[in-house]
Amino acid sequence: MPYGGPGERQLMKIFLSSDMEGTAGIVDWEQCTGDGLPAVAGRRLLLAEVNAAIEGALAGGAREIVVNDSHSAMRNLPPQELAGQASYISGSHKPLYMMQGLDDSFGAVLFVSYHGSIGAPAGLSHTYSPRAVAEVRLNGVVTGEAGLNALAAAHYGVPVVLITGDRCACEETAALLPGIHTAVVKEPVSRLAAHSLHPTRACALIREVAEKAVATAGQAAPPPLGPRATLEVSVRTSDIAEAASWVRGVTRSGSRGLVIEGSDLLAVYRSFCSMILLTRTIAEAV
Ligand SMILES: [Zn+2]
Repeated sequence: MPYGGPGERQLMKIFLSSDMEGTAGIVDWEQCTGDGLPAVAGRRLLLAEVNAAIEGALAGGAREIVVNDSHSAMRNLPPQELAGQASYISGSHKPLYMMQGLDDSFGAVLFVSYHGSIGAPAGLSHTYSPRAVAEVRLNGVVTGEAGLNALAAAHYGVPVVLITGDRCACEETAALLPGIHTAVVKEPVSRLAAHSLHPTRACALIREVAEKAVATAGQAAPPPLGPRATLEVSVRTSDIAEAASWVRGVTRSGSRGLVIEGSDLLAVYRSFCSMILLTRTIAEAV
């Protein structure tokens, strides 16, 4: 890579994990999956928000940006249109899923277009797999994808300095990661309805907050999730729980309950991701 590798922290090397459901104007699965016209339009909205975050990060001093596309088939963005000549991690499967590519050489992590956990009353809320996962608690606190992904950032000692998305996503994450900068681009109406900022205003807000977040990243601490982390996962059926318990590090705590815990935060995160991949077929069949 052009600017520092693993083991050598570069404050201005930025890791950006992009989801999609937290984009202003997106309220329905048709807008964020498949290749229909609504999805094509949705990807343009997402691209603009990702680029706004990149431009803000560059204004805040970033020198190199790595974008990890973390949504659905994980190839939602046109590489040539990414701002800042960002490099692009896309496609599936990826062993570290929404955090693929992160290592200890990065100075900060940005989460763009994130949504709330499955129980949140807004924004296409879900936690990795809407058909499998009913709730996840991290160290006792209900969390969504941002909190789970922060385990990987904590492992590598990299602060998560920005989250953009709907209000639920931002508030849930701020509860777990105090001091994170948030850009709320949508207010909840229900899970499939929202009041969004105009995309131009959403992008302006994201750019402004990203600049501040990256400019002050040197003072930010890595996610305070250790030294041990405990994930309590409730899944929707006992079949899903049974299959999940075949994954290393995952133990069954009840008919639909699972526990993943340990002091190796990356191992905890990897066990969770493996559980999601392994149970996908069973969850789809429910
Ligand atoms: Zn997601």
